[in-house]
Amino acid sequence: MKIFRFEKEGTISQGMVDKDGQKRDISSFGHDINEDFLHQNGLITLAEWAKKNLESCPIISEDITYSSCVARPSKIICIGLNYAKHAKESGMEAPKEPVVFFKSTTALCGPNENVIIPRNSYKTDWEVELAVIIGKKASYVTEANAMDYVAGYCLHNDYSERAFQLERSGQWVKGKSADSFAPLGPFFVTKDEVADPHNLHLWLDLNGKRMQDSSTADLIFNIPHIVSYLSEFMTLLPGDVISTGTPEGVGMGQKPQRYLVPGDVIKLGIDGLGEQEQTAVAYAG
Ligand code: ZN
Repeated sequence: MKIFRFEKEGTISQGMVDKDGQKRDISSFGHDINEDFLHQNGLITLAEWAKKNLESCPIISEDITYSSCVARPSKIICIGLNYAKHAKESGMEAPKEPVVFFKSTTALCGPNENVIIPRNSYKTDWEVELAVIIGKKASYVTEANAMDYVAGYCLHNDYSERAFQLERSGQWVKGKSADSFAPLGPFFVTKDEVADPHNLHLWLDLNGKRMQDSSTADLIFNIPHIVSYLSEFMTLLPGDVISTGTPEGVGMGQKPQRYLVPGDVIKLGIDGLGEQEQTAVAYAG
């Protein structure tokens, strides 16, 4: 299934892409896509419901304002330096164990919302990433069983303020957590629809110029390893988002470095997971 969340009359509604590629309003199903939904095996219930009801659900004809494809989760966990060439462009060694950091859940936003360059920022950067959505509570899971805990995948732009992240001391979380720094979606694609998550093309264009162009085949630590590894240190809950890292081609890696300015247009995508487009705007207020 390919499901999504969107704004309708001031509230968040839910949608599904049908077999003909049409987007249907499934708000009559009556449940948001969140921790509780996944915890109650909502994907199975929804699949059964859709068999009977999807074709009578209204087709969404107007332009869709997408929300994040899952409701605010308990955690957004990110893996750093998980592509060798990106580690190199960042001037860092490829890690021996996954580099783990958090992103504030308030950074979450819809896939096509403006990215707000934070107050006092001069190094706001982009990072196209494959994100994993956890389907059930995971604690001390083995690598062999780890995929049982994955519900699906989505596209994520792990926006990063490099000065906040790397020059202000302490943890990377400071540069990763501003409002609008976690556009997620448009689609939550269930894992059965992704034949091989370790062979997906991912790309990002800045003002029409290709900056990132890679494949998840180049991940240093693969998804089962990451899920198992994280579950040693914390309990993963349904709906939690794990962003698997970005390939080379971020602004910090350019010569000279290139950071976002108001008016920049950032477009990105991953095979089968859809595309996002953001316009950079200055913080106001
Ligand atoms: Zn990242």
